[in-house]
Amino acid sequence: MTTAKENYCDDSSFPSVGPLAAPRSGNLLLRGVRPYGEGEDVDVLVRDGVIAEIAAGIDAPEGAEVLEFDSLVLLPGLVDIHVHLREPGREDTETLATGSAAAAKGGFTAVFTMANTAPVTDDPSIAESVWLKGQALNLCDIHPVGSITKGLKGANLTEFGMMADSQAKVRMFSDDGKCVDNPLIMRRAIEYAKGEDVLLAQHCEDPRLTAEAVAHEGPTAARLGLTGWPRVAEESIVARDAIMARDYGGRMHICHASTEGTVELVKWAKEHDIPLTAEVTPHHLILTDSVLETYDGVYRVNPPLREQRDTLALRQALIDGIIDCVATDHAPHGSEEKCCEFEHAKPGMLGLETSMSIIAEQFVLDGTCDWRWLARVMSERPAEIVKLPGHGRPIAVGEPANLTVVDPNKKWTVHGDDLASKSDNTPYEDMEMAVSVAATVLRGKVTALNGEVAG
Ligand SMILES: [Zn+2]
Repeated sequence: MTTAKENYCDDSSFPSVGPLAAPRSGNLLLRGVRPYGEGEDVDVLVRDGVIAEIAAGIDAPEGAEVLEFDSLVLLPGLVDIHVHLREPGREDTETLATGSAAAAKGGFTAVFTMANTAPVTDDPSIAESVWLKGQALNLCDIHPVGSITKGLKGANLTEFGMMADSQAKVRMFSDDGKCVDNPLIMRRAIEYAKGEDVLLAQHCEDPRLTAEAVAHEGPTAARLGLTGWPRVAEESIVARDAIMARDYGGRMHICHASTEGTVELVKWAKEHDIPLTAEVTPHHLILTDSVLETYDGVYRVNPPLREQRDTLALRQALIDGIIDCVATDHAPHGSEEKCCEFEHAKPGMLGLETSMSIIAEQFVLDGTCDWRWLARVMSERPAEIVKLPGHGRPIAVGEPANLTVVDPNKKWTVHGDDLASKSDNTPYEDMEMAVSVAATVLRGKVTALNGEVAG
């Protein structure tokens, strides 16, 4: 029999994480929660960062921190495998501190921050610095993604093995922001990644088809006089990389799937047992290019917002499990980079603080899916894809207390100025959200409570 401590983060089938910030010592009692939104209210006692007891009416141990809830939903802490926290290099738009505060407020206990920083996260020292700063902040585990090629230049592979063996234990590599479009480089990357058992995540965009493109290629872009980004630029890379994964066997992940055709290709790959997974962003599930009529730069994103047939296909694929998980592609930008002509706006939008609310409202509140499904697509599956131990685990005795408490009845209104993120480029300004994060718990430490970041 394994003890709680042994179970803590030490599943031998996964590469271990780096040195973790110490779990909160002492006891935390969550009263009045329903795991996965099911059954009667229970209390959850956390001891030294590990779930110690789940039962109705637990007596609070002496000195325990007690959080009282009234029949709120308890989920495993959310995991986002695609964010841009901008540090190092663009600390004017986001830092590891503000980004992990935004993550905690959004219900996340682990995030993976992309390598397109300045300098690029292409060697172990940069990856270790990001990881260790995140652990010192202790609001959310910040896992650095390593770049596939040096300097994101698409020519020379980075040292996957050295980064994987570093303190940061880099387990995912991506040139996100850019596509590894050279097929020979991608072949070498996938063979190398297979040997190291790390995940490659591809930003699928054939750049020869998207030169100067700022909006989805279709009737809206044509009417507005915007240069179009065709679906085929994404789908041709998805198809190529699925076949690469078939023939060379590495684990391949599709970033921000945005088209109906990508859904068909991922479905085909899964039917053929190809080790291909895919994510979708909240904005590609709910927004279409019809919002571009305003020419508001906040809606510029890469890949672009597409048409309703795409959003409908993506939504159904997420429900069916063809698309594996939700990832925010949280991309902070300064106001001077967004409040300008649409063509000159930088692509990207915030996502960490609004994503759970959107997914819950769009899929769970209307009964289409249940909270277990939300736990699957926003916690368990992303952790599995990246082989991340300690997160996305069952809510059970002996498991690490990485948890999110959701209030399905508490509305809130999005105001960029109120967000923990250092930037305010949210496409949901002034929108009312129907569901709130009531609390986030990282290894027994409360990191966010009632919309405030806990110290
Ligand atoms: Zn991308």
